Amino acid sequence: MAPQSEYEPVIGLEVHAQLLTRTKLFCGCETSFGDPPNTHTCPVCLGLPGALPVLNAHAVRLATRAALALGCTVQRESIFSRKNYFYPDLPKGYQISQYDKPLALHGELLIESARGRVRIGVLRVHMEEDAGKNLHGMGSESVVDLNRAGTPLVEIVGDPDLRSAAEAGEYLRRLRDILMFVGVNDGNLEQGSFRCDANVSVRRVGTEKLGTRAELKNINSFRFVEEAIDVEIRRQIAILSTGGTFHQQTRGYNSDKKETYLLRDKASEADYRYFPEPDLPPLVIDEAAISEAKRELPELPEAKRERYVTALGLTPYAAGVLTGHPEVARFFEHTLALCNNDAVKVANLVQGEVLRDARLSGLSATFPVSPEQLAGLLQLTTDGTISGKQAKEVYAAMAGTADLPAEIVKNRGMAVIRDEGALETIARGVIAKNEKQAASYRAGKTALLGYFVGQVMKETKG
Ligand code: ADP
Ligand code: MG
Ligand code: ZN
Repeated sequence: MAPQSEYEPVIGLEVHAQLLTRTKLFCGCETSFGDPPNTHTCPVCLGLPGALPVLNAHAVRLATRAALALGCTVQRESIFSRKNYFYPDLPKGYQISQYDKPLALHGELLIESARGRVRIGVLRVHMEEDAGKNLHGMGSESVVDLNRAGTPLVEIVGDPDLRSAAEAGEYLRRLRDILMFVGVNDGNLEQGSFRCDANVSVRRVGTEKLGTRAELKNINSFRFVEEAIDVEIRRQIAILSTGGTFHQQTRGYNSDKKETYLLRDKASEADYRYFPEPDLPPLVIDEAAISEAKRELPELPEAKRERYVTALGLTPYAAGVLTGHPEVARFFEHTLALCNNDAVKVANLVQGEVLRDARLSGLSATFPVSPEQLAGLLQLTTDGTISGKQAKEVYAAMAGTADLPAEIVKNRGMAVIRDEGALETIARGVIAKNEKQAASYRAGKTALLGYFVGQVMKETKG
């Protein structure tokens, strides 16, 4: 039996990301999550006879932006096609997708892995509509909810360039970050707005030819994607190394049993009978639109991370944390712009205090303090008005309120006393009040100094 190390895993990911539009891809129904079933439907997304699709221009703009952020070449002309299959959540009997002429081609994404910095190719980016959802287990009945039917998606098809489950996880996280930073997707795996199918095969080390693959469907967490890929790699090696073979398959993942299981064999795979959608003209994106989309493209997370390290002097770790979410980066940059403090101090405060109580959900975030409050606090510590210890107290006092740190310091009488005369008066008062301790100190019990310092701290409220 050949050892594991004689085989090399090969992985290619297909990611479906929901475009953040207010309305669906081909009708005016609102995109929504969590509303009562079938409250966002119309003749178009219900697939009623005679209803005609109209392409959502904003969805095209977002998909174009996603493609450009991944370094793809946007095609001047792309075609929508019908992908035909039968399933209860697909009322038209076909999904409108793009097939042989997709929106964009040939991009890439860089990841850091055990192999160093690796380039992962992006084969294509295309637009398509989502299907509805079959809800089971509502008593004895099953319900088809078409709220999601017609929701705009981009599918990002990666080249088979990934070589381990860890690399696949890293690629997914990077891809999610990019889509979130350019405002195209909210990165929500649990709500299904970012979904991944993983194609997995193995081959003998040193060979070029791709092995037979299994496609792992719809795994809804980063951890389970990595786990499922690992499990599948081991399953394939176990078969091949004992001389066995297998067919191309679609498989699911059981995270309790830590097993992948057969969903369907390639032989029983549907023939989708793709053909161009007759109700939609070719999608033409002119140079002007592409240039505009390029201009709108914000700084990408990778570039931001590098800038934080090289230009702002942060550690790679800090840069990673602060670019972990677009709103966190925005909060950090806003605070930095408001004060003349150095970036490292701002970064420490954001990491040490603010992020502890920040709530991140999808693309939105709420912070316990505002950039204005934080900048004000930093100002008070660097100009020596308050001590580091007092800063913690002021932070706690202003968190969750609109109070400005300067007011808190004033109201609590917290400012550092820099007037030596005033301090001496207080010190003399403390000594006078503690005659006995003062006498023992004079007699040589110098350890009592700490006691006196404590008394002065109490008098001066720190
Ligand atoms: P399909 O449309 O049938 O799913 P594609 O050729 O478009 O097939 O490939 C889809 C995905 O599968 C891509 O992400 C690609 O990188 C990946 N892939 C293709 N062949 C292999 C393979 N042998 N091993 C791993 N991944 C593969
Ligand atoms: Mg596929
Ligand atoms: Zn509709």
